Parts: sequence; C-alpha cells; structure tokens
Amino acid sequence: MENGLKSCPFCGCDDIHLIDRIDCENGLQNYYHVKCKECGVMTNEYKSKYDAIMAWNKRVSE
Ligand SMILES: [Zn+2]
Repeated sequence: MENGLKSCPFCGCDDIHLIDRIDCENGLQNYYHVKCKECGVMTNEYKSKYDAIMAWNKRVSE
C-alpha cells in the first residue's frame, strides 16, 4: 500500500488517503490524518505524517 497504509478495517477497501491540512489559526501548523475514502472513517489529526500513519495502522491491528 502506498505510504505503508493498511487497508480499511471497517470496509476493507484500499482507497486510503493521507490528508494534510494547514491550520491557519495556529501558526500555519501542518496537521495530518488518514481517511478511508470509501466509508469515511478517519484518524485523529497529528502533527506528523508518521504519527497519522501509525495511528491508522494501529487501528487496523486492533
Ligand atoms: Zn473504509
């Protein structure tokens, strides 16, 4: 899987996206979260891509 993201634990699809967002109200800090495009489930937002990916993959394994 691209970016090392596992398939969705809820719907099983592989259409998983790492999304970045710039928070203009917070010093232009970048936030990242991972979202399944099929069913819309997503992780919390993290300040690093790595943390967002880890959060997603951890959810998959639970
Ligand atoms: Zn899904």
